[in-house]
Parts: sequence; C-alpha cells; structure tokens
Amino acid sequence: MTQKGQPRESQAGVAERAAAAVRELLVQPLPGGLYVVATPIGNLADITLRALAVLAQADVIYCEDTRHSRILLAHYAMARPTRPYHEHNAAHERPRVLAELAAGKSVALISDAGTPLICDPGYKLVRAAAAAGFPVTALPGPSAALAALASAGLATDAFLFAGFLPPRRNARQARLQELKAVPASLVFFEAPSRLADSLGDIAAVLGDRAAAVARELTKMHEEVRRASPAELARWAGEVTPKGEMVIVVGPPLAVVVADAQIAERLAALIGAISLSDAVRTVAHELGVPRKRVYDLALGLQSQRE
Ligand code: SAM
Repeated sequence: MTQKGQPRESQAGVAERAAAAVRELLVQPLPGGLYVVATPIGNLADITLRALAVLAQADVIYCEDTRHSRILLAHYAMARPTRPYHEHNAAHERPRVLAELAAGKSVALISDAGTPLICDPGYKLVRAAAAAGFPVTALPGPSAALAALASAGLATDAFLFAGFLPPRRNARQARLQELKAVPASLVFFEAPSRLADSLGDIAAVLGDRAAAVARELTKMHEEVRRASPAELARWAGEVTPKGEMVIVVGPPLAVVVADAQIAERLAALIGAISLSDAVRTVAHELGVPRKRVYDLALGLQSQRE
C-alpha cells in the first residue's frame, strides 16, 4: 500500500492507461491544419494527453520562444522542428505558416505558457488560417486566467478577462472606470513591478470589493491571497511579491440606488445639458439602467412644464 492507502498496483494501472492512451493517439496520423495547443503555466505535468500527441507529431511547432519551449519539448522527448512565432516576427512569418497549411502540413502553435492567443500571439494567424479555409483546432488546457479564477473563491457565474491594465496611472484609472459597473468578476494579468500600484488604483476606483491575487500558480511558491483591494495593495507595497500573478476582483456589490437619489442628480443636470446626456451621465455615475433613469427624467420634466 502507498501512504495514501491506494494499492500500488492501481497507481501503476493509472500510469499504464495514460501511456496506452497516448500510444493510441500517436498511431493515428495527424491531419493537416493549425493546432492551437495549450501548454503548462508552470508545472510541466499540466499537459493533456492530446497535446502531447499533437506536439509529438506536428510537422512544425511554432513557439513564442523556441528556447523556452525546448524545456517542455525535451521533458517529453519531443523532437519536432520548431520555429519562432512572436509579436515581432508574426507579420513576416504568417505567409510561411499559411503556405505550410496549404501544403497540407500539420502546424502547432504554442506560447511560453498557457493558452496561445490569451495575451499571447496567434489571433491574426488563427483568423488568417480560418479565412483561408484551413482547419483550426484548439487543444484546451491551462490558462493562468482560469486557474486564478478557479482558486480565488469569487463569483464565477460571469467574469470579464481584461488582460493587462495600462501601465500609466491615468490610463489605468480610466480603464478601471470603464469596468466599474460591469456586473461580473474581473480578471487582470499583472507584472510584479506594477502590482501594488494597480491594486491601489483598483481600490480607489472599484472600491471595497472581494478580491484575490493568485501568484506563481502550479509552481513551488504558489500562493493565493484573498482580501480587499486596499488590503492587497498594502501587502503588495510591503513585501513586493515576485513571480507571475493574476488579480481577480469580485463583482460590484449590489448597491440599492433610490429613485430620490437618481432624481436629485437628474434635477442638477437637466437644463444644463440635454435630457439624453443627463440620462446617460446619471445612469453611468450611479450604475443603474438607462431606461430607469429615462423614465424618472420624463417624470421630472413633465413636473417642470
Ligand atoms: N497565455 C497565457 C495563459 O493562458 O495563461 C498568459 C500569457 S501572459 C503574456 C503572461 C501573464 O499570465 C503573466 O504576466 C501573469 O499575469 C499570468 N501568468 C502566467 N503564468 C502564471 C502563473 N503560473 N501564475 C500566475 N499568473 C501567471
């Protein structure tokens, strides 16, 4: 028996079944087309059997960074030709990839970590390949955004992946203003050097919500810290956390806005600006549906007439 009480024979059975499943995939020829393959975000074991089979068979593997991907490919003894495909050479490489697809080749696309196209190169290639009628197949797998969301303990029924926030404060705060009323959890990628500043702006603009920072997911120093944006900003300012990180912010708290509050704000604006501008402004400021504000504005206007 093993420490966890599972008979060793049954664990050996798992290993055999997994190996058999990969062997079975490997005997089937890989049809031509573009394969968008998700790869680990840290732990090299986080790769699907299908991803292994496609990467072992593809005629060519386009990598965001061939040196970086060599670690993964060598780990699984995969020796297919690799070529770089990154944001600086993508426009130049795309015609070559399309020519390979036209020749019936199987072409895999991987990024340094996680799912290609998610804040990584590949979107224009997928668009061009699909427009030219070549098969495009996504092999789902790890993505830091989903792993963070899955561990944050925040609402997941609706979420908005917002990529990286702008590095400059004004632009960052403006972007957060745009996102403030979105009735969903928000997911941001962030660099360690900007974590504290971004969390500070999130606290200032989005206010007191539940939030989390998921750091170094699937790696040795994995950490998920759950607190308000203000507390997380304080922590990040004090300890300057290192590594790769994702910020998740819960949806806005359901604030009950009274009709009187809407009417008061409308009364201050109607006359100074057009009715439709007043409605739009108040709906945005108070985070309430425009129709509700419009109905109240009509009532106010008819009282005044
Ligand atoms: N395509 C990737 C994916 O699907 O996860 C994301 C690529 S994006 C250029 C890199 C960002 O993802 C990092 O700056 C960080 O915000 C996040 N990230 C990547 N790996 C991570 C990890 N192991 N833990 C936490 N965040 C990670």
